[in-house]
Amino acid sequence: MIEILGKKYKIVETNDEHLAGNYGASSLKNQVITLNKSISAEQRQDTLIHEIIHVISNELALELDEPTTRRLAVGLCSAGVRVKG
Ligand SMILES: [Zn+2]
Repeated sequence: MIEILGKKYKIVETNDEHLAGNYGASSLKNQVITLNKSISAEQRQDTLIHEIIHVISNELALELDEPTTRRLAVGLCSAGVRVKG
């Protein structure tokens, strides 16, 4: 469970097939962040931050596209940002 902008999101680990090979996904409607359980701990952190950025982008109407979201996650991870969850 992680709280983003006052909303609680459930974190669910699943296998490759459910994510069509992606590392993660997020559903604002269901307030669920899904992570691929076959990825490394480092990839998991990057993916979690990536999905959180998607949620923030949607909630605050930032309209960040996928490449920007990816670069922001990489940059934050490189600065040592870690999220519990
Ligand atoms: Zn994405």
